[in-house]
Amino acid sequence: AAKYTGADRAREHSSALDATAQHHAELSAALRRGLELGEFRLLYQPIVELPSGLVTGVEALIRWHPVDQPVVSPAEFIPVAEHSGLIIDLGAWILDQACADAAAWQREHGAAGPRVNINVSARQLLDPDLPGLVAGALHRHGLTPDRITIEITETAVFAGGAALETVRELRELGVGLALDDFGTGHSSLTLLRTCPVTTLKVDKSFIDDLNGTAEQEAIASSLSTIASTLGLRAVAEGVETRDQADRLHALGYRYAQGYYFARPVPAADITALLTAPVLTP
Ligand code: C2E
Ligand code: MG
Ligand code: MG
Ligand code: MG
Repeated sequence: AAKYTGADRAREHSSALDATAQHHAELSAALRRGLELGEFRLLYQPIVELPSGLVTGVEALIRWHPVDQPVVSPAEFIPVAEHSGLIIDLGAWILDQACADAAAWQREHGAAGPRVNINVSARQLLDPDLPGLVAGALHRHGLTPDRITIEITETAVFAGGAALETVRELRELGVGLALDDFGTGHSSLTLLRTCPVTTLKVDKSFIDDLNGTAEQEAIASSLSTIASTLGLRAVAEGVETRDQADRLHALGYRYAQGYYFARPVPAADITALLTAPVLTP
């Protein structure tokens, strides 16, 4: 029998790498085609004000619908789009579509129209054109900057000095800035001294076991205290039960988001969620 040598192993390893690289190349080509063919859609998940139970904001969440194939989640394609650079064009589309929807809600509902949160990835924050792109989208759709909030992650801001500069320019435009998945990065608290955010989105992992241990509750409570002490909004992410919503309210959280209130839905379904509280006493 042939001996399995180190050389064989190396060849096997490199062909596995080739397969991955090829899969990535195919996926990026399909994504680019998908953007040209209009296969992307934005869903919107409500952000609820806890005292009133009213939907005051929504987060835009992208989905890919390749023809004759099941919908693809952003966890699968955003990393590929980042790697290939397509995220720049895709991000511009997301920004434009989200601003168009925000403007339509503002026309229909006035001040009661939901503010719109838009996720921006690390690669986009390294693009010096981003602030100009945001300003252009606001202008095109006749939106004031206070109607949108850009969601960034700690990791993205730490990716480089240029990212922090872009964040400052975005803030100067007057748009809201949210730190997404807050608490899961490496230097959450350091970042608060240098990064001009308006909102902390407290990661789901701190919300999940809220009714589990005293430690978990102390952490969730401290995060909301930090936010209010610094004059920031705190949004609890990934709320799945009534119990969590009640505890969060008691701990001082003013905003919450999660499947308990509503899943991400098409823009057309948002209006129905604005007419009555989604959380009643
Ligand atoms: P994220 O920005 O932290 O978005 C929250 C994610 O948690 C969404 O997943 C949402 O559907 C999900 N979620 C909300 N409530 C609950 C809950 O109660 N339980 C559970 N288990 N999950 C909940 P989604 O839509 O699959 O997006 C995943 C991630 O992909 C996002 O995390 C964000 O990082 C990225 N992403 C989504 N849309 C965009 C986009 O338009 N641009 C960029 N750059 N990234 C995006
Ligand atoms: Mg987000
Ligand atoms: Mg999040
Ligand atoms: Mg998250």
